[in-house]
Amino acid sequence: MTGLIYRIAADIVVAIHFGWILFLIGGAFIGRRVRWVMWLHLGALTYSVLLQLFSWICPLTYLEFWLRSRSSSGRHYSGSFIVHYMEKLIYMEIPRGLLMILTGVVIGTSAVVYYNAMRKAPAAPDRNRMGLPKDTTREMTLRQLIMAEIEKGSMTARDLSKAIRISEKEVIAHMEHVAKSLHPPKRLIIEPPVCNKCGFVFSERRRFTSPSRCPQCRHEGIAPPAFRIVPA
Ligand SMILES: [Zn+2]
Repeated sequence: MTGLIYRIAADIVVAIHFGWILFLIGGAFIGRRVRWVMWLHLGALTYSVLLQLFSWICPLTYLEFWLRSRSSSGRHYSGSFIVHYMEKLIYMEIPRGLLMILTGVVIGTSAVVYYNAMRKAPAAPDRNRMGLPKDTTREMTLRQLIMAEIEKGSMTARDLSKAIRISEKEVIAHMEHVAKSLHPPKRLIIEPPVCNKCGFVFSERRRFTSPSRCPQCRHEGIAPPAFRIVPA
């Protein structure tokens, strides 16, 4: 029985190990959008370079071997097919030189991904992802229309979408710029989303979109955030 537990634990370590390697290879594609993932990924890359330079053995490998050694009394490993396959990939015999080259390729690719992300970051990172056109008079006018509407009273993205006939997605994309372009003492107030079932108020939320479900009761009916501009 305990043998089985060790074997399952070893399988989990293999899966984590495999995930870790995938993260090393492709982590930049998440890291370019999420800052903390970027730092984790850069740390992971540095660590893997150190592992190779000093021919250290990954602690996960030790852990797995230790668990395996306790898992079965001399019997052959008979984990699931997928785990077996992952294991083969993890411990693939790659010549040291080739591994270094592959690592170089991964680092190079990641560097390009991060460089591009950084270069685009200061200038409205969200707009391009939303597929919206560049700043045009139409965009400016829409923003002014939104401002005019929410100066009169609070409105949700849906209210605004109906009032000025653009999609809610567009409203939300504009809202970010509305918030930035207001000159003090004018400022944008976001009335937080509220759970329709238990009344939970998303008071910490700073985003313009509606949350998908309530953290308190898991209910999915959420009254969306409303926006208004106050003079002081
Ligand atoms: Zn709730």
